[in-house]
Amino acid sequence: MYDMKVGRRHPGESQTSFSPIPTNLQDVGRVMKICKIKDCNTQYHAKGYCNKHYMRFWKYSDPLYTKTEIHGMSHIPEYIIWNSMLARCIRKNNTSYHRYGGRGIAVCDLWLKSFKSFYEDMGPKPFPKAQIDRRDNDLGYSLDNCHWVTRIENIRKAPCTKLTIEKAKEIKELYKKGDFLQKELAKKYGVSCSTICSIVNSKIWKI
Ligand SMILES: [Zn+2]
Repeated sequence: MYDMKVGRRHPGESQTSFSPIPTNLQDVGRVMKICKIKDCNTQYHAKGYCNKHYMRFWKYSDPLYTKTEIHGMSHIPEYIIWNSMLARCIRKNNTSYHRYGGRGIAVCDLWLKSFKSFYEDMGPKPFPKAQIDRRDNDLGYSLDNCHWVTRIENIRKAPCTKLTIEKAKEIKELYKKGDFLQKELAKKYGVSCSTICSIVNSKIWKI
């Protein structure tokens, strides 16, 4: 007999039947019956798991299931890129917010709601150090305006702000009045026709 708590042999036991004191938690788990999930250390319930992990295993066939990991992709680099893109555009306490969300750079609805949509649209990074770039620096994050680039390409493209949100509002007003064609507005403001199109349709700026 081996006394788990104090690691003491009972009187009369021979030296050879002595079990060593478990040196790591997995060994403790085998003896004390705790959950086999690393660092869980909760009391055993069934099939090697604690109650929480067993229930997840039973419901989702994955003891480590959590809601945010439903797509099983939260560890991939594209997810990190997606997450920091959201942070820049919607979290006011983000250090870059003033250069993004703060000046009207938005994330399209699809991408805002779902990483899966973002990943389906953009695909995996074509090379390891790829960064997401907005073709038109004054427009937000959407399939139309985004592509993967190298870091160098991203740096070379100095942020020159052609349009402010005020100018975008102006453009929309002018277009609404019917005085200008989109093509003419593009020329007048020195931006592309697709930029004008996105502005008048409130695709990027919610104005
Ligand atoms: Zn557990």
